[in-house]
Amino acid sequence: MARTAWVDPDECISCGLCIENLPEVFRFADSGKAECYNSAGASEADIQNEAMDPCPVSCIHWKD
Ligand code: SF4
Repeated sequence: MARTAWVDPDECISCGLCIENLPEVFRFADSGKAECYNSAGASEADIQNEAMDPCPVSCIHWKD
């Protein structure tokens, strides 16, 4: 089964980069912080390369 990505809301600075790169996976929650609403919206490699790695505060993690 594919892994699920998770945004730590305490660390997210709401820069929007992950949402811009992968809008089918990430969106802004009502809190104003990013959330992963659909881990199946992109491959694990794309989530890693286009959201996790470039996130300026490295707050997107895999949930086991
Ligand atoms: S890239 Fe990181 S800091 Fe920016 S909105 Fe996404 S989770 Fe938050």
